[in-house]
Amino acid sequence: MESAATPLEDVRARIAQAAHIADREPDEITLVAISKTHPATAIQPLIDQGQRVFGENRVQEAQAKWPALREAYPDIELHLVGQLQSNKADDAVALFDCIHSLDRPSLVSALAKAMDKAGRQVPCFVQVNIGAEQQKGGCAIADLPALLDRAREAGLPVIGLMCVPPLEIEPAPFFALLDKLAGDHGLPGRSMGMSGDYETAIMLGATHVRVGSALFGSRPA
Ligand SMILES: *Cc1c(COP(=O)(O)O)cnc(C)c1O
Repeated sequence: MESAATPLEDVRARIAQAAHIADREPDEITLVAISKTHPATAIQPLIDQGQRVFGENRVQEAQAKWPALREAYPDIELHLVGQLQSNKADDAVALFDCIHSLDRPSLVSALAKAMDKAGRQVPCFVQVNIGAEQQKGGCAIADLPALLDRAREAGLPVIGLMCVPPLEIEPAPFFALLDKLAGDHGLPGRSMGMSGDYETAIMLGATHVRVGSALFGSRPA
């Protein structure tokens, strides 16, 4: 592939190519540009190139960074991809258009309450601890059916499953497993794939890829 003019153009071209290989349409795949740790000055060039879907992993950081940008660009969509504490549910529902990290019953209750109060339905992905890793966020695979039942009972709009596979291992089997779990539960969304593996994720059914460093450069450690 010829090198493209900007990182965003490069990522878009790679998404299109992976979609083509998988016999999918590129517009079935939403690129969520993960701007965590990066200031508005780094985000603006992507906005100027037409990117409108962004993701952050901390409520407080997003509250500091996004209100001004959203006022200037009302069609921006902001996604939360990081762990959410139940006591931040109101803030999250007020600020975000999509939540990728629903992972436990207490958060189902907190988000349902917050959405009722705000009169605003925010689509959610249930995050699955796909590699059964000890310290990793996400719902255990065995607990997924009960958590989905609970979310349905609470009226939460669950649109799919999300995962972050274990580091340093081939991610494809984990993406395939998430795709199967989503299919088993009749969920259309699969939030999977990051800078190092989003093309693989697209070939295995990703509907949302969460790409940070490939767009913004590396983050401070
Ligand atoms: C930071 C982050 C990403 C983006 O990671 P990159 O490797 O920089 O693309 C994606 N998903 C989640 C949950 C993240 O925290």
